[in-house]
Amino acid sequence: MTGELPDAGAEPETADSTLRTARRQFERAADRLDLDEAVRERLARPTGVHRVTVPLERDDGTTETVVGYRVRHDGVRGPYKGGLRYHPDVTEAECVGLSMWMTWKCALVDLPFGGAKGGLRVDPGRLSAAERDRLTRNFADAIGEFVGPETDVPAPDLGTDAKTMARFADAYAGRAPRPAKGVVTGKPPAVGGLESRTEAPGWSVALVARETLRHYDEAVDGATVAVQGFGSVGANAARILDDWGADVVAVSDVHGGVYDPTGLDTREVPSHAERPGAVTDHDAASVSNEALLEMDVDVLVPAAVENVLTADNADEVEASLVVEGANGPTTPEADDVLAEREIPVVPDVLANAGGVTASYYEWLAAVNGRDRPSEWTGERVDARVVSAWTDVRDRVEAGGGRWRDAAFAVAVSRVAAAHEATSRR
Ligand code: NAD
Repeated sequence: MTGELPDAGAEPETADSTLRTARRQFERAADRLDLDEAVRERLARPTGVHRVTVPLERDDGTTETVVGYRVRHDGVRGPYKGGLRYHPDVTEAECVGLSMWMTWKCALVDLPFGGAKGGLRVDPGRLSAAERDRLTRNFADAIGEFVGPETDVPAPDLGTDAKTMARFADAYAGRAPRPAKGVVTGKPPAVGGLESRTEAPGWSVALVARETLRHYDEAVDGATVAVQGFGSVGANAARILDDWGADVVAVSDVHGGVYDPTGLDTREVPSHAERPGAVTDHDAASVSNEALLEMDVDVLVPAAVENVLTADNADEVEASLVVEGANGPTTPEADDVLAEREIPVVPDVLANAGGVTASYYEWLAAVNGRDRPSEWTGERVDARVVSAWTDVRDRVEAGGGRWRDAAFAVAVSRVAAAHEATSRR
């Protein structure tokens, strides 16, 4: 397959708003915690940004250049950890913002990891399987010196999957050669991955939605739900909530959405992994992505991309509760509007943290020399996510403000405490 690639040098504008959101959230948390100035300085920026150019060898024999990044935000609590994204909007600024969220997420579920993020500025839909494979191997070569089981451990994210991780680990191992078992997580079970790693972020979104509904004296059974983004996170969250008795009335992908007021059969709607971009092929009334965000439902789950709830539409949100499946779907301005309207927003760093928690058990098995995690660690993942949710809920109840403020207070304090404990002063 051939097609136009985005200009390797141009920085898409959307990235600035991701970094802006991440920085504003951190500054708000730092002000509220009255954070030590030196720690604040350290955490306001990444510790390292690696920009690489990666050859994309086309099937027709030509070679193009793709820009890639690996950004490390903070590593005081352990090896850097975070996904690799293949998307036309990947930029340095976006990776910095996403890496900051990984630091807070790992701290919130109390994992011994820091935060990182990376990716390639490429549209994976325009690559053949062979082109994608070669590109992933070349990316592993390009960032191989920056990653490693005890330094920086990538995982899947938007546009990448278990197969991508298997190729990445294979290339990392083969060319040096060096031990590759724990270099990535989210691998297929055949090479040491967890059977349910793919489900884990969506599972935790569903779990956090259920706990939060209960907190507000609502039941998941019979709750109406709308999910934007029917991919790894969104489709799994929708299907689990459906299994628990919720009525998932609307779901969407990049091409638009479908709607059924009596509840969709979520297993009949094709997910991104099953058939990319095919949600609107499902036989149901259609709904636009914009309208889905404004539906009158009990729970809205934005699970696609950043910055979809903004100052322009936050006034129109009719959901009783927002649970963030994607990273960074709500801008700070939208956060203010939703808080004023008393619509709780349970943040990404808590809701989708099941993914990195499952990854932790996969990584632990690998670095301890086991072929694979000895047992399905679902219960341990659940326990960590619920424990994090409880820490956040306790802060909310103790007057800690919004759910995001409470989550950041827990996470940033843990990272700050680690810096203070290891400081030379
Ligand atoms: P995915 O590639 O599996 O699916 C993304 C889905 O969103 C697809 O259905 C796609 O068509 C849809 N989409 C893309 N752009 C859209 C738009 N503008 N409007 C509506 N729908 C759109 O991706 P994923 O892994 O599910 O990731 C989704 C989000 O969740 C990202 O923010 C990612 O960082 C975050 N996340 C992913 C994981 C993981 O392990 N996969 C873990 C935690 C958080």
